[in-house]
Amino acid sequence: MRYKSIVVQPYDKDFSEIKLPLRERLESIFYLPIVWKMPKKMPTSAYNPERNQFLGSYFLRDLLSEKGTGDIVLGIVPYDLYEPDLNFVFGVASPYTKTAVISTYRLHNSFYGLPEEYSVFLDRTTKEAVHEIGHTLGLGHCPNPECVMHFSNSIYDTDRKSYYFCPVCYEKVKRELGIK
Ligand SMILES: [Zn+2]
Ligand SMILES: [Zn+2]
Repeated sequence: MRYKSIVVQPYDKDFSEIKLPLRERLESIFYLPIVWKMPKKMPTSAYNPERNQFLGSYFLRDLLSEKGTGDIVLGIVPYDLYEPDLNFVFGVASPYTKTAVISTYRLHNSFYGLPEEYSVFLDRTTKEAVHEIGHTLGLGHCPNPECVMHFSNSIYDTDRKSYYFCPVCYEKVKRELGIK
């Protein structure tokens, strides 16, 4: 067995409001146990004061300290993330390190000046989490706009897609994970 568990590492807060349903959803899609860790402090070296954002790819290395053999590690950050050529990123992942990070900063309705809605926030967070875990498993972006592996350029793209893989992508996931 190549994969043992999905480790979720929250930063700065424990995300207790979404912890239970997100765990269940990830378990039911990936058939792996979810290990939800205690929150860890934000790495100050990832912070860019000029942009007031954190460098997403920094976390791919930072999370290696949480990774045991056969683990996929997903970091959850409540602040905004960026990459050098991009204004912002919802998340980043690497199939080589099997680490990924998502930001919940732009997943809140309040970010767009709308009233906060729990189920919307939970669904968006699930979609970004499943998407980045998909990348750690080697999946690329999918042309199907309803597939969770469709690229999200904006929150509209995220809202249009589901948190499930399309049949083509789920075949790849199952093959990689050894799910029958
Ligand atoms: Zn992607
Ligand atoms: Zn797909």
